[in-house]
Amino acid sequence: MAWRSSGSSNAELVENLRKNGVFSNQRAYDAMKAVDRGDFASRDPYEDAPQRIGYNATISAPHMHAAALEYLQNHLVAGANALDVGSGSGYLTVCMAMMVGPTGTVVGIEHMSELVELSKKNIKKHHSEMIENGNVVMIDGDGRQGYAEKAPYNAIHVGAAAAGVPKALTDQLADGGRMMIPVEQKDGNQVFMQIDKINGKIHEKIVEHVIYVPLTSRDKQWSHHH
Ligand code: SAH
Repeated sequence: MAWRSSGSSNAELVENLRKNGVFSNQRAYDAMKAVDRGDFASRDPYEDAPQRIGYNATISAPHMHAAALEYLQNHLVAGANALDVGSGSGYLTVCMAMMVGPTGTVVGIEHMSELVELSKKNIKKHHSEMIENGNVVMIDGDGRQGYAEKAPYNAIHVGAAAAGVPKALTDQLADGGRMMIPVEQKDGNQVFMQIDKINGKIHEKIVEHVIYVPLTSRDKQWSHHH
């Protein structure tokens, strides 16, 4: 089902994702329908594939964005507080903000300042009110530290693969909250992990195999290009 959902418009892409059984209900579907991926990727935005956005970063494939929103859907409810680590293009941050609505907040944190600026420009194309009203806050920083100022978070999404689960992120997860994070294993393969905090206890579960760019330092990601 993955990769097969390309369309010629945002509506067609999201409809094809739905036909391929990616959505279990309306909420993630509605969010993706309401956010035009064309505002966030300059090339082939309606292909069900990742696209380069510069600085060794990619906007993830639509079916991966859909999967992330699905796993987090019961935590991205009206008024919830969420964190998007490695916010890149800003696309998923805005989808998450759609789901938490005007009374919720989503913090996007990204360590390439150029991408933070790009994401704000992208968001302002059709969703400037989210930034003006503080529903979306884009932070330039190292997401491995999370963003303690706005913690705890009901939902945390990590868009880059970590060597291990950063403790700062589990610490900043609210009780009853869920984090979805790609984690690199010893053999180099990556798994998408679902991490729930229930009565202060951490419950981890591997949900699928994935391929993400690494969650790393700014220098490792880009400085050798200068
Ligand atoms: N979810 C985003 C981007 C995915 S690519 C989208 O779909 O557009 C992963 C992003 O994580 C890249 O933009 C990269 O610059 C960022 N990143 C990698 N390591 C990071 C770190 N330590 N802190 C913050 N952002 C990081």
